[in-house]
Amino acid sequence: MAIAKTAVVIGAGIVGVLTTWRLLQDGWHVIQLEATTLGSGSSSRSAACARQQFSTAASVRAMIHSVRWFERFQQCFGAAGPAMRQVGYFYPYWERDATAFTAARQLVCDQQAWGLRDVELWDQPSLILERFPFVNPDGLLGARFCGTDGFCFPDRIFTTVHAHCLRHPQFEVRMQSPVVGIEHSSGRISAVTTPQGKVSGDVYINCTNAWATQLERLLHGDDIRTLLPVQPLRRFLWFFPEFREQLLAAHANFDPLRFPMVVLTNGVYARPEGPQANQLMMGHAHTPDPHWNFTHVDQDGSRPESDDLGEAAWFLLAEAVPIMQSRFGPTTTGFYGTTPNHQPYICADSAYGNWYRSVGFSGHGVMMSPFAADAMAALLRGEQTVQTEAGSVDLAVFGQHRVQTGVHAETAVL
Ligand SMILES: Cc1cc2nc3c(=O)[nH]c(=O)nc-3n(C[C@H](O)[C@H](O)[C@H](O)COP(=O)(O)OP(=O)(O)OC[C@H]3O[C@@H](n4cnc5c(N)ncnc54)[C@H](O)[C@@H]3O)c2cc1C
Repeated sequence: MAIAKTAVVIGAGIVGVLTTWRLLQDGWHVIQLEATTLGSGSSSRSAACARQQFSTAASVRAMIHSVRWFERFQQCFGAAGPAMRQVGYFYPYWERDATAFTAARQLVCDQQAWGLRDVELWDQPSLILERFPFVNPDGLLGARFCGTDGFCFPDRIFTTVHAHCLRHPQFEVRMQSPVVGIEHSSGRISAVTTPQGKVSGDVYINCTNAWATQLERLLHGDDIRTLLPVQPLRRFLWFFPEFREQLLAAHANFDPLRFPMVVLTNGVYARPEGPQANQLMMGHAHTPDPHWNFTHVDQDGSRPESDDLGEAAWFLLAEAVPIMQSRFGPTTTGFYGTTPNHQPYICADSAYGNWYRSVGFSGHGVMMSPFAADAMAALLRGEQTVQTEAGSVDLAVFGQHRVQTGVHAETAVL
C-alpha cells in the first residue's frame, strides 16, 4: 500500500479546517498546527455574509461553488443546523445613485452570463417596497437582489468539520503550536519549528490569512510585504439590540427573519443577527492603515475610532432604512487580510516549491472557504483549474505573480 504523503496545514480557522478536511478526502496525512485555539482568528469575528454577487467571473463561480457546498453541509456532516441562512443580498439604489444603478444593470447581466441564475434586477420601486417595506421610498430607483445569498454560521461549520477531522485516522492536530521558524535547503522546505519542536511534511500550507506576512517573513525576510502584499486591516461590526422591536413596530406584518443583507452604495451594510433576528449587525467598508504586527490580543478590545466610525455608518443606514432610530450597542472588531486586487493567494510559492498558501481573503474568506479548500486540493494534484457548477475557474487568478489590475481584479468588495 502506498504511504500517504504528509501536508502540514498552518492555521485552524475556517480555511485551514476545510482545507484539512478536503486533503484528508484526497488521501493525505495532515498535521495541523494552530498558534492558539480553533477559530481564534477572523473566522469567529466575522460578519460571515455569503454572496455570489461579485464583479469577476472567477469570484462569482467560486462563490456559487461555495454556496452549493453550504447548502449540502448539514446533510453531509450530520450537523446540528444549516451552514447558512439564505435571506438574500439586497442592493437598493436611489436617484443619487443613478450612475451606480446603470452599472448594476450591466453587472447583473455579467453575473447571469457567468452562471449566477438567481440574481435579479428590480426597476419598479413599488414592487421593491411591497417586498421590503422598510426601505426609504423617497427617490428609490431600483435594486438588485439574489435570494440564495445570505449569511453563514462559521463556528458551526469549523467546529463540525474539525470534529470529523478528529475522527480521521490520518489527522493530527497541535493547538497552542505557533510556527516560529521555517527550515529550508535547495529551494524546498524541510521542516517548520514550533516551541514544542520540529514538524516535517511533504508540503506546507499557510492558512493564517491576516497573519500571512508575519508567518512568511520567516521565509522571505523583509521582502515579504512586496512578495505577498496581504495587509492586516482592522474592521468593526456594530450591533443594534432593539432591531426586532423597531422593525415590528413600523412593519407589523414583516417577518424579521426575512430581513435580507442590505448593502448601500456608500459601503454600509447590515443584516439580522440571532435566532429570532433580535439584533441588526452593521459594518462599513473603509480602509484603515495596516497593523502589520498585530497579535491575537489586538483582535479584541475597544478602540477609540470605533464610535466615530459607527456613528457615521449609522447615520447613512438610518437614511436608507428609517426604522433604525436608536443608537447601536456592542461593537466587535477583527482583521481582514486584504490584497491589492481583493483576490486571495491560493498558490505555491515561486521560490520554495513545496510551500503553499491560501491567504488574503480580503473580507470574503468565510464565504470562499469551501472553494479555497477545493482549489488547494486541485493544486496539490497538479491541476490548474477547479470545475464549479457554473463553469471552470482558472487558478492563475489566485497566483503569486498575477497582474493585480484588469479583468480579474475584484471590485465588488466590502
Ligand atoms: C469584522 C470582520 C467582518 C468580516 N465579514 C466577512 C463576511 O461578511 N463574509 C466573509 O466571507 N468574510 C468576512 N470576514 C473575513 C473572514 O472572517 C476571513 O476572511 C476568514 O475568517 C479567514 O479565515 P482563515 O481561516 O483564513 O483565517 P483565520 O480565521 O484568521 O485563521 C487563521 C489562523 O491562523 C492561526 N495562526 C496565525 N499565525 C500562526 C502561526 N504562526 N502558526 C500557527 N497558526 C497561526 C491563527 O491563530 C488563526 O487561528 C470578516 C472579517 C472581519 C474581521
